[in-house]
Amino acid sequence: MYVKSLTLKGFKSFASATSLRLEPGITCIVGPNGSGKSNVVDALAWVMGEQGAKSLRGGKMEDVIFAGTSGRAPLGRAEVTMTIDNTDGALPIDYTEVTISRTMFRNGGSEYAINGTSCRLLDVQELLSDSGIGREMHVIVGQGQLDAVLRATPEERRGFIEEAAGVLKHRKRKEKALRKLETMEGNLTRLGDLTSEIR
Ligand code: ATP
Repeated sequence: MYVKSLTLKGFKSFASATSLRLEPGITCIVGPNGSGKSNVVDALAWVMGEQGAKSLRGGKMEDVIFAGTSGRAPLGRAEVTMTIDNTDGALPIDYTEVTISRTMFRNGGSEYAINGTSCRLLDVQELLSDSGIGREMHVIVGQGQLDAVLRATPEERRGFIEEAAGVLKHRKRKEKALRKLETMEGNLTRLGDLTSEIR
């Protein structure tokens, strides 16, 4: 599995549709300061469902939309499409090529699609989490982030490993199921009380 291409349109400094074709192995993006190298990495995180504006180096989510320059008006929406080569079947979906896209409008809200079909953020997260690319985005290591990993608490480190191993998703599901069970038990107790009152 590898990222085959990435298309940015209206995303940060990429006002016009810009496509990057990637090959398996290591890809280096080079360019002068401020030319948009980190914006490409932000686009990768964003299309995979990143929810934190700060992680995308912005103040608010809207900041990912092209804000305009002296020669070009701001745009109303940002779109990023990522195509993944899935010939090895690493993603649990019956396609050898998987396209994930995210669109955001200036008036708010994000739309996601997998292979052209609208879906929820959760569907994108679930699809990717089986391949070790989880919602915490530990696959993208930004500048200065290595220090944070080295300084992480044992619990945080365990989280990184669990996510990479694909266990985190199941732990979260288990926690959710336990919470539901607890509510149910509360309801049952309440029901028992009511039944004995009626009797
Ligand atoms: P460096 O080598 O210094 O780290 P870089 O190549 O990684 O630079 P980026 O940080 O990716 O550069 O890009 C910064 C540029 O993107 C800035 O010129 C900034 O004005 C522009 N930019 C960021 N967000 C937007 C936006 N929403 N609309 C228009 N331009 C934007």
